[in-house]
Amino acid sequence: MNNQNDNGCDICKNGWYAGKPPLEIGQNDERWATLHLCEVCGTYWEAHLRNAVIISKDDAMKYYPATFANKVEDGSHQ
Ligand SMILES: [Zn+2]
Repeated sequence: MNNQNDNGCDICKNGWYAGKPPLEIGQNDERWATLHLCEVCGTYWEAHLRNAVIISKDDAMKYYPATFANKVEDGSHQ
């Protein structure tokens, strides 16, 4: 089994084509995009109008701060 978070897993990759995308956990109106998290492999995806791309957790936290503010206490800033 290859569990590379950079590439997603078969479940989330195929899910986009099958109309069953990973769980939506946030949205960013400025980017016209939504944030999705694969519960299987932990990959973050950003879905745009016509495509979906894998993004790093750092980018996910940057573009969707509200999503993470609700979930985790981030001690990296005051
Ligand atoms: Zn996955």
